[in-house]
Amino acid sequence: MTDGASIAFHTGRARVQGRAQVNCLAHLSEAVGARASSAGHDRGAGQVGYPPMFGRLKKSAFGPISTGPGIFQIRAFGARVTVIASDNGPILVDTGIRGSAPMIDAGLHAANLSFPDIELIVVTHYHPDHSGGLSGASRRSGAKVAAHEIESALLNGEQPRPNPFVRPILSAVLGPLIMPMYGRPVEVDYRLRDGDPLPIHDGVRVVHTPGHTPGCISLLSQEHGWLLVGDALQHRCGRLGGPARYVTPDYPAARASIEKLLQYDFDSIWFSHFPPVRGDGKRRLARLVDSFS
Ligand SMILES: [Zn+2]
Repeated sequence: MTDGASIAFHTGRARVQGRAQVNCLAHLSEAVGARASSAGHDRGAGQVGYPPMFGRLKKSAFGPISTGPGIFQIRAFGARVTVIASDNGPILVDTGIRGSAPMIDAGLHAANLSFPDIELIVVTHYHPDHSGGLSGASRRSGAKVAAHEIESALLNGEQPRPNPFVRPILSAVLGPLIMPMYGRPVEVDYRLRDGDPLPIHDGVRVVHTPGHTPGCISLLSQEHGWLLVGDALQHRCGRLGGPARYVTPDYPAARASIEKLLQYDFDSIWFSHFPPVRGDGKRRLARLVDSFS
C-alpha cells in the first residue's frame, strides 16, 4: 500500500520538498528480523488526512511504518525509532538494540535523510532496545544526545546498566541474553527534566513518566497534538494498556505517570513497539485510567 501528500521538511542543512510515499512491505522487514508482531506496518499511515511532514519517502522495506504531522517511525532491531521534524534539523528518538545503526540508516534513506542530517538523539529510557544502538547512531550522526537526568549516568557508563527484568527467574534466564544488547557508553549532552522543551525544538516538551524506568520520558507536541510515550504505555492488538509488568519495576509509579498524562491535550499517541493511536487519544487514555480504580 502506498499513500502520499505534499510536504516540506527541514534537514537543518537543506530544505527538501516532495511527495511522501508510505510503503508497506512488512513481510520484508520480518525477513530481516524486525519485531514484526509488535512493530508491524501501521496500515492507517497516510489514511487519516495528516499531511506527512517529511521528504520524499522511497519504496523500501525499511521505509516509514507510521507517519503523522511532524513525526514518522522507522524500524530498528527491537523497537521502533521515531523521527521528529524541527526547523533545526531532524530529531531521532531511541535507537533500538546494539547493532541497529545500519537498519536505522536504511530507514532514514527511505525519507531522503541520512545520519549526518540528525541533529539530536533523544533516549526515552535506558532499556537496551532503546539505548543499545545509541553508540552507533551517535558515532554516525555526530548528533548531540539527550536523556532524562536520572538516567544519564547509566548511558555514559558512570553506573552499570541494570538487568531490566523484574522477576528473578526472568532476570536469571534472559539477563545473559539481554545484557549484550546494550551498546558502548555515550556522553549525554543534555540532561532533561520534566517540562523542558527539547534542546533544538521548543515545540516539543518533555514529560517525565517514571515507573517503567525511573527516568522514563514521554514527548508532547502541542502544535501537532501527538504524544510519544515510548514504553510508558502499550497498544497491543488495538487495546491501550499500561507498560509491560515484567520490565516495569514500579507499577504504581507507572500508573501515576499515565494519570499525569491526562493533564495534557493530545489527539494521537505514539509508542515504541506498537502502531499509534490515531485519534481520540486523550479520551482513550481517560478510559484506561478509569479502569485502574
Ligand atoms: Zn522499556
